[in-house]
Amino acid sequence: MYQKFDVVIVGSGGAGLMAAMQLPNASVAVLTKVYPTRSHTGAAQGGVAAALGNQEEDHWKWHMYDTVKGGDYLVDQPAAEILAREAIDAVYELEHRGLPFNRTADGRIDQRRFGGHTRNFGEGPVRRSCYAADRTGHMILQTMYQSAIKNQVRFFNEFLVLDLLFNDGVACGVVALEIRTGEIHTFHAKTILFATGGYGRAWRVTSNAFACMGDGMSIAYRRGIPLQDMEMYQFHPTGIYKVGVLLSEAARGEGGKLLNDKGEYFMERYMPTLKDLAPRDIVSRCIVQEVNEGRGINGKDYVYLDVRHLGAKVIHEKLPDITDFARNYLGVEPITEPVPIQPTAHYAMGGIPTDVDARVVIDDQWTPQPGFYAAGEVACVSVHGANRLGTNSLVDLIVFGRRAGKHMAKFIAENDHAPLPTGYEEHSRELVDRLYSSTGNESATRIRSDLQNMMIDKVFVERTEKGLRESLEGIDELQDAYSKVQLQDKGKQFNTELVEAVELGFLLDCAEATIHGALARTESRGAHFRLDYPNRDDANWLKHTLAYKGTGAHDVRLEYKDVILIDDPIFKPKERKY
Ligand SMILES: Cc1cc2nc3c(=O)[nH]c(=O)nc-3n(C[C@H](O)[C@H](O)[C@H](O)COP(=O)(O)OP(=O)(O)OC[C@H]3O[C@@H](n4cnc5c(N)ncnc54)[C@H](O)[C@@H]3O)c2cc1C
Repeated sequence: MYQKFDVVIVGSGGAGLMAAMQLPNASVAVLTKVYPTRSHTGAAQGGVAAALGNQEEDHWKWHMYDTVKGGDYLVDQPAAEILAREAIDAVYELEHRGLPFNRTADGRIDQRRFGGHTRNFGEGPVRRSCYAADRTGHMILQTMYQSAIKNQVRFFNEFLVLDLLFNDGVACGVVALEIRTGEIHTFHAKTILFATGGYGRAWRVTSNAFACMGDGMSIAYRRGIPLQDMEMYQFHPTGIYKVGVLLSEAARGEGGKLLNDKGEYFMERYMPTLKDLAPRDIVSRCIVQEVNEGRGINGKDYVYLDVRHLGAKVIHEKLPDITDFARNYLGVEPITEPVPIQPTAHYAMGGIPTDVDARVVIDDQWTPQPGFYAAGEVACVSVHGANRLGTNSLVDLIVFGRRAGKHMAKFIAENDHAPLPTGYEEHSRELVDRLYSSTGNESATRIRSDLQNMMIDKVFVERTEKGLRESLEGIDELQDAYSKVQLQDKGKQFNTELVEAVELGFLLDCAEATIHGALARTESRGAHFRLDYPNRDDANWLKHTLAYKGTGAHDVRLEYKDVILIDDPIFKPKERKY
């Protein structure tokens, strides 16, 4: 089926919906492979950062500083300035749309502490995270979805986008599979926004929802667009042991602490100032070090998160959901018992490169790809650099989702629809037909689980050349095996086996770009920690990786792009001491 809109937005998480709300006079279609409010944004717990200063003095420049420093200086500083400045207004926009934030006694938005957010350029923790209990993302999605419905946005739920169309370099549409019927649809548009989220399912232990398979990144990559800084993948320190489900940093923001087998609150030893609220890359590494040195609980690969001293009242009021997770998944009562945790795959700092208006840019000269935008976790603007601070993703969604929407409004006023290219559905039909007709006898489930095990064994918190080389061989083998995947279910309607097989192809591409970037980057920075190159190397590596899909089956071409710094001594790269 063929349909025509001004704007097509792929993804109904926070980034996609925030953009949709900026386009009241346009015809807007939002395509999503899950029901809109099931997007992963709904799982965000802790909060959204903005220097409102409601609880204590705060400034956007302090927020910018923390973002740049937290990102281990791989941050494009003008983008971080926009993030910190516009966060304030974007949060008020959410408030005015009806988001039920927790309140201070005098009725303003309440704020709490989160890792790496400090006052006065690193002096000590500051209360910057605006929150709605530990369900902030859920509230954001509900609020925005209602607004979008009110604005007459057309939703196409359970549509799996397979391809992005260009005519002479101008983005002009997408092709999607309607999961309910198995039909292929083409959506013709003047401009397209990808807001498809991350790829945390590439690891066995992950906080990410089943839908986080890297679709948008891979679709762009297959169309010749580079992926930026994919080796910068964040592992959150506190995933529920073995399961990976997240226990938000809000637990430590409220005073929770990490405990080792000796009964020691060990973060005090590593990070005397910020302690448990040091940035995530550092805390994850400290946990791994405790485990490696034999201080994991009962000698195993986990430690405890302890919130007992907060008392039942604070736990019930401020951390209700996550303490329920501990009860449900582990049978542990956090009011009286410490909770077993381990680092869990969480967030992609890298993604599709964009400028500060969310326009996709395809090389080191910042050449835009006309009509194509990306925002949210799928994009790399780059405000998070090598490590994202807690509560800085939700703010990225609303600030750059909003900028994307505003810029697209201008673009559609100035441009007509570019015609669709000839044979525009061919590629997608081939992709689906190949899976239906394959007799290769390979199982998508087997490949996915081998990928997830490999990524957790070799491309995790600590990396080495040996492990990364092995994973390079591993990913090539898995890509080969993928070309032989055979479906058992040949039905058309709600063929979830087909959907999962298509998604696995996306996930493999993201893992491939991650491994190539990680092997090449012979330094340690932020979340990318190389045991064989333990130091940051600004002379050689203060630059972004751009990974392009090559022409051969396993070829990946790496290029590099300068990091944009501003002329202010306070933001000059320096050693990241806390
Ligand atoms: C458990 C958890 C807790 C978090 N807590 C916080 C927090 O407290 N604060 C914070 O700042 N950040 C937090 N984060 C990070 C943050 O929530 C995410 O980075 C962010 O929500 C991503 O939003 P998004 O709009 O980019 O994409 P998502 O919300 O992931 O949405 C992606 C959308 O794309 C659609 N989609 C994907 N592929 C396709 C396709 N092929 N076809 C059609 N549709 C497609 C999906 O259906 C979905 O609608 C948390 C993350 C997790 C996993």
